[in-house]
Amino acid sequence: MHYCRHCASALELPFIDLGHQPPSNAYLTHEQLDEAQCTYPLKVYTCTHCWLVQSPAHAAPNELFTEDYAYFSSMSQSCLTHARDYVTAMQARFGLDSGDLICEIASNDGYLLQYALADGMRILGVEPTAAAAQVARGKGIRTETRFFGTTPAAQLLDIYGPAALMPANNVLAHVPDINDFAAGFAVMLAPEGVATFEFPHLMSLLGGLQFDTIYHEHYSYLSLIAVTRILTQAGLRIFDVEELATHGGSLRVFACRERAAHETQPTVADFLRREEAAGLKSEVAYGTLQRAAETIKNDLLTFLIRESKAGRRVAGYGAAAKGNTLLNFSGVRRDLLSFVCDRAPLKQGRYLPGSHIPICSPEQLAKDHPDTVLILPWNIAAEVVQQQACVREWGGRFAVAVPEFRFL
Ligand SMILES: [Zn+2]
Repeated sequence: MHYCRHCASALELPFIDLGHQPPSNAYLTHEQLDEAQCTYPLKVYTCTHCWLVQSPAHAAPNELFTEDYAYFSSMSQSCLTHARDYVTAMQARFGLDSGDLICEIASNDGYLLQYALADGMRILGVEPTAAAAQVARGKGIRTETRFFGTTPAAQLLDIYGPAALMPANNVLAHVPDINDFAAGFAVMLAPEGVATFEFPHLMSLLGGLQFDTIYHEHYSYLSLIAVTRILTQAGLRIFDVEELATHGGSLRVFACRERAAHETQPTVADFLRREEAAGLKSEVAYGTLQRAAETIKNDLLTFLIRESKAGRRVAGYGAAAKGNTLLNFSGVRRDLLSFVCDRAPLKQGRYLPGSHIPICSPEQLAKDHPDTVLILPWNIAAEVVQQQACVREWGGRFAVAVPEFRFL
């Protein structure tokens, strides 16, 4: 039996079972192809008490976020634009000045803080991945290499003082001890400080059949209903919510100390009502994803097998976690998908975990002229089609598999 990471109730309602899979960011070297690879159950439950959708922790965080964890935020232009716009918007809305501390949690390679630094703000990044933290320091961004929670927050508060703004983008879903993590913000925020949390919205996952956003490093799948409970227990109050297009549909939640002056906006109650209307406080809504994922898998396999029989070649684009969940759940191997391109130099020359499909630079497309390029991170499909326009020159097509198989 597993228990809810927020409220400790027994987890009895299955959400989806994607079989056993290796950690999705464990990209392999050529030598590692002949070694054993650990797999863990990728099974997600819904807590029917607090409605937090979650996978029980199987791998320790330090096993998942290793030194060479190959994800760098700055690789994506849309991510950089989003970060720059965020910094500008927060400065304007909360009247931040150069003496105010912006402390970003999960600051990665400094993709966001670089804009605050350029504006002369006091900045601090907190990032558990040594390689990403090193890149950030190279840009002059002060970075502490560590996980976040109440104990680190108290230590950071001693050294750097309270924070006026604490961005935490795409990290809330990734922390095993979500209660202690959330409570850390209440420790470090200034009395009128603001924490913002961005996370993929559970309603988008369900509506867009985005089962491939499920992977081990992703412990929680968040609704505003669940996040409200978690932040309230941590001593924070949500005073505004925005909907974002990132990651297939995300929320940005603004939180402050319970008694701070920030007025709670009507958006908060509006979003909670929308989630309730979508059934997120009843068991029914949580029981549909398994069958949908199986249909997507069958349609993808039907296409790949047909192409293989006809002697046509299919390559993948984007060696991201999403692709690994889809390919490993579907049992796709190199015979059906000859290679996957990715712009990140750290991934090139390596192999996808589980499927052992080689990762090449995007230049490989022009050498190989595949008939179809299957874009695995569907959320950046438009960007990829534009960047790799050359594929059309030899009559190649682009396709995505989620929420349904289709050509672009
Ligand atoms: Zn719970």
